[in-house]
Amino acid sequence: MTRRKQPKPVHQLTVKQFEAMFPDEDACRAYLKARRWPNGVHCPRCGNPHVYELHTRPWHWQCTQCAPGGSTGYRFSILTGTVFENTNKPLRDWFHVTHLLLTAKKGISARQLWRYMGFGSLKTAWYMAHRIRAALSDHPVEKLGGIVEVDETYIGGKWYNKHKDKRGGGSGGLGSGKSAVIGAISRKGNVVLRVIDNTDTRTLDSFVRETVCTKVSLLATDNHSGYRLLKDKYPHGVICHEEGQHVIGAVHTNTIEGFWSILKRGVVGTYHKVSRKYLPLYVAEFQFRYNNRMNADIFGAAVARC
Ligand SMILES: [Zn+2]
Repeated sequence: MTRRKQPKPVHQLTVKQFEAMFPDEDACRAYLKARRWPNGVHCPRCGNPHVYELHTRPWHWQCTQCAPGGSTGYRFSILTGTVFENTNKPLRDWFHVTHLLLTAKKGISARQLWRYMGFGSLKTAWYMAHRIRAALSDHPVEKLGGIVEVDETYIGGKWYNKHKDKRGGGSGGLGSGKSAVIGAISRKGNVVLRVIDNTDTRTLDSFVRETVCTKVSLLATDNHSGYRLLKDKYPHGVICHEEGQHVIGAVHTNTIEGFWSILKRGVVGTYHKVSRKYLPLYVAEFQFRYNNRMNADIFGAAVARC
């Protein structure tokens, strides 16, 4: 194995760096503007790039294209259409929460955020974190290539920390508060996750076809029957954990299993109980963080999506 020097990720700003970068609201607004509209301000409603800056109202623009007949046109602000809109929290608080959320490896609980930020209510911290997660969750990911591993796991309920082989019951009936998550991971690239309602063939098979490129050099899964039809389009290698197999040449699912342990340590360790309703948001947070693990500008990437 050749050891290539990877660029060192600069994920975390110190408090001092954060203060220097974002001393006030205007600094945050300027940063948001640059991230949101790297090619100049566009109307958030119709996409028109020929908008007029309102000199009487800083950080506000006007679009006459999507408000025909109106003399004033459609007016929007730096926050219009972002998750930071319609809140009474300064943008600086939003940036702070976003930064904390992205740089905590195992996530950060609403309670920790609440204490750290000194918000009046826990609910504020909870709400802000969820809005940011929602913004990260529609992260478009290209179909995965190279060597891809696919696996499912269960989160929540009393079986969360057992390996799925030891739970018996093949497809692992989703009772007792458990939720199933399926993931596909490219060994040197991205992960794609989805919370699923069941682990039948239709669900597993269609997830793989939607997320994994058919030109992969190898698709590795365990011997769950839900994956049995994939060999028609994919070079499919199967590991049979029940028979004590874990690695056959390049065929193994160690990368995705490593990811599951990060996810579980985070979801179970930091968030304790995650309901089925909100699990997709937490899953999106972990996916975004993993896929931007080498991105020195993970914060900027997140702000651009907010
Ligand atoms: Zn417009």
